[in-house]
Amino acid sequence: MDYTFTPLAEIAPKVAAARTAFAAGTTRPQLWRRATLERLRDLVEEREEKLLDAFAADFGKPRFEAWTSEIGYIVSEINHALAHLSTWMQPERVATPLAFKPGTSHVVREPVGVACVIAPWNYPVQLLLAPMIAAIAAGNAVVGKPSELAPHAAAEAAALIEAIGDPAVCVVQGGVAETSELLTQRFDHILYTGNSRVARIVMRAAAENLTPVTLELGGKSPALVSRHANVQIAARRIAWGKFMNAGQTCIAPDYVLVERSVHDELVAAIGTHVEEFYGADPQVSGDYARIVNEPHFHRLEKLIHSGTVVIGGTTDADTRYIAPTVLTGITADDPVMGEEIFGPILPIIAVDSMNDAIEFVQQRADEGDKPLALYTFSDSDDENDQVIAGTTSGGVCVNGTLLHFSNPNLPFGGVGESGMGSYHGKFGFDTFSHRRGVHARSTRMDPALMYPPYTSRKQKLVRKGMSLLDPRDVGAKLRGALRGK
Ligand code: NAD
Repeated sequence: MDYTFTPLAEIAPKVAAARTAFAAGTTRPQLWRRATLERLRDLVEEREEKLLDAFAADFGKPRFEAWTSEIGYIVSEINHALAHLSTWMQPERVATPLAFKPGTSHVVREPVGVACVIAPWNYPVQLLLAPMIAAIAAGNAVVGKPSELAPHAAAEAAALIEAIGDPAVCVVQGGVAETSELLTQRFDHILYTGNSRVARIVMRAAAENLTPVTLELGGKSPALVSRHANVQIAARRIAWGKFMNAGQTCIAPDYVLVERSVHDELVAAIGTHVEEFYGADPQVSGDYARIVNEPHFHRLEKLIHSGTVVIGGTTDADTRYIAPTVLTGITADDPVMGEEIFGPILPIIAVDSMNDAIEFVQQRADEGDKPLALYTFSDSDDENDQVIAGTTSGGVCVNGTLLHFSNPNLPFGGVGESGMGSYHGKFGFDTFSHRRGVHARSTRMDPALMYPPYTSRKQKLVRKGMSLLDPRDVGAKLRGALRGK
């Protein structure tokens, strides 16, 4: 495998070359944005087999999962950006209050400059390229840094980016030393995906240059299951979302809160679906991933000792295998509830009511642990609405898991400890754009009202004028009144 870290001395020149390209205006035209995105898409499609081999070599990522969550996802994100780019780039006309007429107002989205994208290992190419796609679509130069913990995927991703052959889109390879060096450079936006400890390092470094950051972090994402849920479907969707990529998914359901009366049915159904997915022995299934490295394997192995193992529980250190595992009899104080699990271990906690479940989640949020995702399972819309209204999280999927991530029309991002800012589709374009407010005045007239000397008559008129609403505001006020707000 050809995997070498970028020499420290080469990092500053790479960023400088990206800045030179941006300053020369290379990246601004729509033509460049389109051509670069199309080239990237072609390269991903051409190198599909190599990429799938790399994911398998790093941690046994099943090819089907790797194709859907990496290749297919990246291609559809590029296609979505290409389909909407012209519209996104249009100045957005907004209302101008009557007092400031005659005149017009627009929001113009302009590229911020040179962006930096730092990615983790669990979806190593998708989480590198998807933010880079957004940065390119928004007309920026961009430097990507894949995770050294998925070295095969990092090498393939780097080769792919280098094949674009454009200094405005470049890659730095490495670990802590290289990323630290990268972070001493001046960027105009940094998007970091990974754990919240390193996020604090990134944010501190960004503060030196007042660089805005988007932080895509993790946390404990709960799944709440009501006695009014379709328990069989809930079990299947929770098992799928949890055990995909062997639980190494930022939005995997971390733990389940289930109403006591359906607890046993849910546990049994998860067992049935795990067997349906991976057979009687998941260790020989080609559809089940491995843990990324030994430290994570040993960390996870210790978490199995909470509560009672009712499904799985077997491990194999040599192949870093941990069976899809379900634990019951868990309390909030067990070690498995003390950190993001990020592996194939699912604690299930019985609660007396959905209100208790909401309180459980919200108490953790009040203590600082706002989840990245939240899953609510009920056939009652009112009940799902109550869960959404009574909790907070980066995103929500009702009666499902993971899939809110893949809708490009939804923002993806965390809140509080699970992150700040968002991307995907237009939200990514906006993240890497500066929204510039432009108000254009007419010169057909120039009333003296605003200008000194300030007379009491002028003051009266200005007070009156500034309280007048734009016709669009009047419309909004009426619509609000009709809705009873
Ligand atoms: P990781 O160890 O690969 O680290 C992420 C990046 O930070 C890497 O590129 C790494 O080189 C860099 N890094 C590590 N230490 C550093 C340091 N001291 N200084 C500067 N850079 C450093 O990945 P991870 O952090 O283990 O990722 C797992 C976490 O990421 C989980 O918490 C997961 O929930 C979260 N995650 C979030 C999302 C999301 O979209 N919100 C997606 C995937 C993972």
